[in-house]
Amino acid sequence: MPLFGKKYAADVTAKYNTKELLGKGAFSEVIKAEEKETKRGVAIKIIDKKSLKGKEDALQNEIDVLKKVKHPNIVQLYEIFDDKSRLYLVMELVTGGELFDRIISKGSYTEKDATELIRQVLDALEYLHELGIIHRDLKPENLLYYSPADDSKIMISDFGLSKTIEEGQMDQLGTACGTPGYVAPEVLRRKPYGKAVDVWSIGVISYILLCGYPPFYHENDSELFKQIMRGDYEFDSPYWDTISEQAKDFIRHLMELDARKRYTCRQALEHPWIASGQASEVNIH
Ligand code: ADP
Ligand code: MG
Repeated sequence: MPLFGKKYAADVTAKYNTKELLGKGAFSEVIKAEEKETKRGVAIKIIDKKSLKGKEDALQNEIDVLKKVKHPNIVQLYEIFDDKSRLYLVMELVTGGELFDRIISKGSYTEKDATELIRQVLDALEYLHELGIIHRDLKPENLLYYSPADDSKIMISDFGLSKTIEEGQMDQLGTACGTPGYVAPEVLRRKPYGKAVDVWSIGVISYILLCGYPPFYHENDSELFKQIMRGDYEFDSPYWDTISEQAKDFIRHLMELDARKRYTCRQALEHPWIASGQASEVNIH
């Protein structure tokens, strides 16, 4: 019996022509495919069910929610298939590549560029938060450009589900996977947490967009955790000397140690650095 999609895996190949591999993770791979009838391109994420062990119910609930998510800056989940060993998530195809790859190759970057990007991400995040969804894994690798066009919108990908799967992996491997650099302090303290964790991550991403390096860094993970839990970051000279006070004020409110005082998405969107549309157009790096 298919558990999730109520559609058998054989239907995937009946409906889609599968093409090249787009990306690969520890328990999943993403392939490009084309819907036969419409010629529409899609991305299919194939997840090994071993990574889900015991989490099927939680996953079913999340999938029900994810199917309702529809926002111009969020990679849409179209449909789900599964068989005994694998889960197939058919998603909107994006072709613009990852956030930082493009910024590195762009040559010039301004505060205005950063605000336009962050505004889109906050907009999508506010929408998810209103639906009661916490992303929990916002990091640059999960922000993808919709198309190769210079003025392409940015898309949030890989949420909800991926975290449940990662938690499954954690049990299995006994260690946390992935980079902790974007994780909010209350998560590291193992305190109950909420939507504010995503806002913290946007703060970290904003910080990197403006100076080109991360706010917390240590070769040793436990030292890195301590830095984060202390909120031990600075706007170092000379790198931040030319960045506006407004931008720094924005980041301080997002990377606020106390989750209760931290800005909500709405407050962040209303901050003058974002809302005024007047951010500096001088090249910063
Ligand atoms: P993981 O959970 O293993 O990180 P992701 O969902 O982030 O898996 O996908 C892994 C890679 O596959 C991404 O880094 C990206 O390159 C590619 N990818 C994922 N989703 C899409 C998509 N909707 N369209 C195009 N490429 C995608
Ligand atoms: Mg990912």
